[in-house]
Amino acid sequence: MYDLLIRDGLVVSPAGTRRADIGILDGKILAVGVVTGSARRTIDASGLHVLPGGVEPHMHVENDFLGLSTANDFFTQSVAAAFGGTTTLFDFAATPRGGSLLESIERRKEQMAKSALDYAVHGRVLEHEQIDELAGAVDAGCPSFKLYLTYPDLGLMADDSTVLDAFSRASACGALPLVHAESDPIAAHLVARALTGGDRSWSRYPDVKPPACESEAFSRITWFARAVSCPIYVVHTTVRAALDCARRARSWGQVLYVETCPHYLVLDRSVYDDPGRGHLAICSPPLRNPGDVTALWEGLADGTISTVGSDDCAYTREAKEALLERDAAGDVVPDFTHVVQGVPGIETRLPLLLSEGVARGRITIERVVELTSTNPARCLGLYPRKGAVVAGADADLVLVDLSVERVLSAGSLHTPLDYCLYEGLRVRGWPVMTVSSGQVVVEDGEFTGTRGSGRFLDREAARAVLPAG
Ligand SMILES: [Zn+2]
Repeated sequence: MYDLLIRDGLVVSPAGTRRADIGILDGKILAVGVVTGSARRTIDASGLHVLPGGVEPHMHVENDFLGLSTANDFFTQSVAAAFGGTTTLFDFAATPRGGSLLESIERRKEQMAKSALDYAVHGRVLEHEQIDELAGAVDAGCPSFKLYLTYPDLGLMADDSTVLDAFSRASACGALPLVHAESDPIAAHLVARALTGGDRSWSRYPDVKPPACESEAFSRITWFARAVSCPIYVVHTTVRAALDCARRARSWGQVLYVETCPHYLVLDRSVYDDPGRGHLAICSPPLRNPGDVTALWEGLADGTISTVGSDDCAYTREAKEALLERDAAGDVVPDFTHVVQGVPGIETRLPLLLSEGVARGRITIERVVELTSTNPARCLGLYPRKGAVVAGADADLVLVDLSVERVLSAGSLHTPLDYCLYEGLRVRGWPVMTVSSGQVVVEDGEFTGTRGSGRFLDREAARAVLPAG
């Protein structure tokens, strides 16, 4: 007898879609195909697509920035994730300068334990001393870590020699570097020029981190990785020139994973022209020109882009405005250098790809599964436990109704935020039920999961290689 039997759904994998039943026992998928036998509960999924639960490779929760906290904790974030069809969460250890990588990983694990969904931890490396702990992090089930090429003022930037050393050691111990690729010299120069020029309106923000700022860093780390034969994962890629660089590196046989985020696919820099809302979309890299948005969709369709992560880093409007000055009327004085960076996105990642991607004919639903679930699981050491609807995998599933239409708004999402970057956007296709480890966690618009029921995912060294693309 199964615990749960999902009947007659259209089961999606990167390779194709087929009608099948799914039998679940003890949190695992036991059978996929024509499944006979009884079950404690049977769900009729006819007319629905059944996807492997989303794997969120990139978010920042319980993240303190200059004393301001992100809006969610790891439990409320897991609730929002479940509503959006995501069942596995990754966050980053907040390794400080002078601090231990392994200790910060342990701290993050403790914080994430309140999640209702399974979770995994990326490390973070800021300086040489922490590189010595990479092999230990791999042994501790955390074979991936973040490197920043900018933000020296926040103490986050790893210099070139640290980056090269980290790549070299990562390659030796099977750890995967996740790189924030923005050129610090270019950004620093252009910010300084903007400060002298005086115009700090939101609409000027993309000009201090232009496409060249990202492309220079992307190109540099691609060569660094080539020099020491290290696979790398580049987070939040947003420009055409970076994609061209990735294509060239791959053609030479380099293993390079490229991530982009939904906000770079759906929004462009014109959002910053709105004086009342532009600052809510300030993030790094900035929103781009329509030409780069088009290039990203091409990169999704042709396989250049490997994953779509939300880079969810959600601050309330109050927090976004906390460091800004106000005029006599109480309105904020625009200054893009004093807006806390980051945008929300955990709940809308899958719906936006279903609507802007599948419903508009830009990418297939199989590709959406590959980008949001299978590939993140593959390159981060979780496949096929996560990212696949196959016997033996964890029973993490999302039932999607491609005919459902919704209008996105702050009030309709499950976050404490008083704004939505996509306010008023009509979307088609919606996750209507989410199953995590065999338990239904979202059903009929209600959360039915349990705080703290997520498990830490002890990952293999990230040696999986994606199919050529
Ligand atoms: Zn990020």
